[in-house]
Amino acid sequence: NLSERLERSFKILKGQGSITELNVAETLKDVRRALLDADVNYNVAKRFTDDVKKKAIGRNVLTAVKPNELMVKIVRDELAELMGGTAAEFKIDGNPAVILMSGLQGSGKTTFSAKLANLLKSKNGKKPMMVACDVYRPAAIEQLKVLANQLGVPVYSEEGSKDPVSIAKHAINEAKNQGCDVVIVDTAGRLAIDEEMMTEIAAIKKAINPTETLFVVDSMTGQDAVNTAKEFNERLDFDGVVLTKLDGDTRGGAALSIRKVVDKPIKFVGTGEKVDALDLFHPDRMADRILGMGDIISLVERAQQQYDEEEAKKLEAKIAKNQFDFNDFLSQIQQVKRMGNLKDLVSMIPGVGKMVKDMDISDDAFKGIEAIIYSMTPEERKHPSLLDGRRRKRLAMGSGTSIQEVNRLITQFDQIRKVMKQLQGGKAAKMAKMASR
Ligand code: GDP
Ligand code: MG
Repeated sequence: NLSERLERSFKILKGQGSITELNVAETLKDVRRALLDADVNYNVAKRFTDDVKKKAIGRNVLTAVKPNELMVKIVRDELAELMGGTAAEFKIDGNPAVILMSGLQGSGKTTFSAKLANLLKSKNGKKPMMVACDVYRPAAIEQLKVLANQLGVPVYSEEGSKDPVSIAKHAINEAKNQGCDVVIVDTAGRLAIDEEMMTEIAAIKKAINPTETLFVVDSMTGQDAVNTAKEFNERLDFDGVVLTKLDGDTRGGAALSIRKVVDKPIKFVGTGEKVDALDLFHPDRMADRILGMGDIISLVERAQQQYDEEEAKKLEAKIAKNQFDFNDFLSQIQQVKRMGNLKDLVSMIPGVGKMVKDMDISDDAFKGIEAIIYSMTPEERKHPSLLDGRRRKRLAMGSGTSIQEVNRLITQFDQIRKVMKQLQGGKAAKMAKMASR
């Protein structure tokens, strides 16, 4: 697994005072492999790692930062920078503003047209109109109409016409008549680039002089996306890229390559089939995704900040002597809570995000447990074996919980202690953290 591999290679750097040629080489080899796996073009990946190497070597590591963390940061920042640094501007001024879609068939042009109309209408208070210039498939016009109806947005189409250039021109006049301030022109696409299609879209562009010409590309197409982008850009000199279907398991490395090869910003990201599944493009998030780390880096950063190594050592010693008690349990819970909102934290783990979205993981989950431990005497916390039936009843009363809850906690605690004893050492401290979650 990619992220594990990266983690491992970053670990090599851990505990060294500065980043040297030697410790960087191994890490960058893995970074490059990660990029290639994520469909980044070979030359782009190579140039990228060379750049990072230059930046990284010789950088002294501040006492607060470990070399591996600094390395992660350099790689991420450089990736984000490559993809444009910050989110790009999208122009919607004009009377009307005209947005032209381009791209292969199935890339998501029609879907994106609807998403954009929805966004401009609901967030920007615009009055968009959608135009059906895909004259080759009757179903395409129907698809656009269904989407537009759903949004309450007008559609301009000409049944029977085979001339997309004049349809587009007529549509702009019609938009003016109807007081629409943005015209979104959806076009036809072929399964692969062909001359007829390129000539047609170039002619449309020339005729309507769009405010923004967008190139829509399916992020699952990987390396091919780069070639397609290049050809479209040579003909259209488009203003920005829309990367669709990022909700799949693609890593989106094409984003990096496209940016580098055609030097045009990625402006939007499609993340689903529904009309609201649209995001502005954030280079830093994309960098994380390409590295296959989700937000694991910030997770690690936050966890490390909070995790006092001294405490960990003490805990290990106690576990080794089977002295892990309710005081330790309580401090583990508090450590987890200090790391921030539990749900946020859990959802940053790659692959887990979607799962926890609907689950009830709240900090409240700990409240009962804490209350019970607070109700214990210092003696009881240190020696859980003292907790007989009479004492358990008192704890339930004192904590406002039930005898069942108290019993459950004590059973769980016993199990944790047993497991810890078995594992011992560094592993045990980690388990304590997990168990207390
Ligand atoms: P067009 O031929 O370029 O107009 O492409 P369409 O808009 O018709 O989209 C082709 C297919 O991809 C449709 O089934 C869409 O529902 C789907 N699609 C488009 N964008 C996305 C996206 O961001 N995520 C997912 N999962 N599917 C998408
Ligand atoms: Mg279409």
